[in-house]
Amino acid sequence: MVYDVIVAGTGPAGLMTAERTSKYGLKTLVLEKRKEVTHSLMGELVTDKALNFLRVKPESEYIGNKYTSIVGESLDTGSHIVVDRQHLGNSYLLDEDNCQELMRDRALSDGAEFRFESRVKSVIKEDNSVVGVKYNQDDEARANLTVGADGSFSRVSETAGFTHPKWLLSYGYRFKLTNCTGIDPNVAYFYVGKDVGLGYLWLYPRSETEINLGIGRVPSSKANWDKLPPMQDVLRKYMKTHPETQNAKIASVNGGVVPCAGIIPKFTDAGVALCGNAAGQVSSIVGGGVTTCFHAGQVLAKHAKRMVDSGDFSQTSVELYEKEYRKSKLASNITNTGKGMWAVSKFAMHNDPIAAAEIVLGGKLDAQILNELIQGHAGISTYMTLISEFLPMVMKLGVGYLKSIAISGL
Ligand SMILES: Cc1cc2nc3c(=O)[nH]c(=O)nc-3n(C[C@H](O)[C@H](O)[C@H](O)COP(=O)(O)OP(=O)(O)OC[C@H]3O[C@@H](n4cnc5c(N)ncnc54)[C@H](O)[C@@H]3O)c2cc1C
Repeated sequence: MVYDVIVAGTGPAGLMTAERTSKYGLKTLVLEKRKEVTHSLMGELVTDKALNFLRVKPESEYIGNKYTSIVGESLDTGSHIVVDRQHLGNSYLLDEDNCQELMRDRALSDGAEFRFESRVKSVIKEDNSVVGVKYNQDDEARANLTVGADGSFSRVSETAGFTHPKWLLSYGYRFKLTNCTGIDPNVAYFYVGKDVGLGYLWLYPRSETEINLGIGRVPSSKANWDKLPPMQDVLRKYMKTHPETQNAKIASVNGGVVPCAGIIPKFTDAGVALCGNAAGQVSSIVGGGVTTCFHAGQVLAKHAKRMVDSGDFSQTSVELYEKEYRKSKLASNITNTGKGMWAVSKFAMHNDPIAAAEIVLGGKLDAQILNELIQGHAGISTYMTLISEFLPMVMKLGVGYLKSIAISGL
């Protein structure tokens, strides 16, 4: 049997793609190496945008919690800023298992087929076009369009010949904790600090006694990385040194890798397209991928339908997905913040990123500006404010950046 679409991977990108392709009536096969869609790290903190893409309401079983404010704090000095909802929009903690089951069940009810414990090894190419995948030992599945939604180390991407130059990867761990005390369930925390390195530690309450405690960090250089304590140790130290978590129990541990250098140069070819982490479709500065994966999956599914209707899976036809995606606001935010991450990472090789973070947390940068910069849509007036108020820091960043470019030869 030749499917219309094969989707490799059941993260948010793969599940959203499969949900939509099957909704369009396309014969969809989903291959996943794990045993089930649940019990994985899908990503947790999102805004209204993700809920809209997922078509779920804030007061539903798909939302684990909602925050009225977010606090950024330094673990070393205690300086902090509070960002309230006015500046941020609404922030929600997803119930990952319920969301994953929802997308799977929608796809199943529209006729999609799921094969678990099915590890994709490579794409199958005929006449310069991808016509399916090989998986497990000797299994094969064929389709007109193969979607690589198989994450940061995508086999579809690698064997289809896509390149990932200059990939800046962020590594992350998350503990789900129970038995906490004195937690305000309305407030989410982000921490920076010397032990954290180039990244942040986060605390997202699920209730008054349960939290998600996580850490994500980018290795700006091997030498810098080796100087830092292992990430799980940083989380454990946090637990020991904060009364709310001193008696907490670790209910589960998840980890993952997120690309933070922006969208890769090319992610479509004849018969094949990448989606999600595999294509670098992740908001670079915060490492947020859920919303961007949902968005990319929907754009891709719409184009899959067009391709099936026209019977055209040529490179030019598949590329129309890439073209539409790159023109979107979310994609340009990723590209802009990706460039920012490169600058910060290069700077961090030779300077102290924590010093810059302290300036932010010292209250000199207001929450609205910070939010605009994180989202990648800061306007000219924001940059003017930054330049006038933070000229010394900007100069230092600039010099650090130029120095690192000169040294690395890029
Ligand atoms: C610790 C951590 C915390 C995060 N927190 C947030 C957050 O709060 N908000 C947010 O927006 N984002 C967050 N992210 C980022 C977000 O989780 C990712 O960007 C998102 O999950 C990427 O989705 P994806 O579908 O592209 O890939 P993945 O979620 O990586 O899914 C890929 C799927 O493919 C499967 N797979 C891999 N290889 C194969 C193969 N060869 N054959 C078959 N199947 C395969 C995997 O098992 C997996 O199910 C976080 C990431 C980490 C690591």
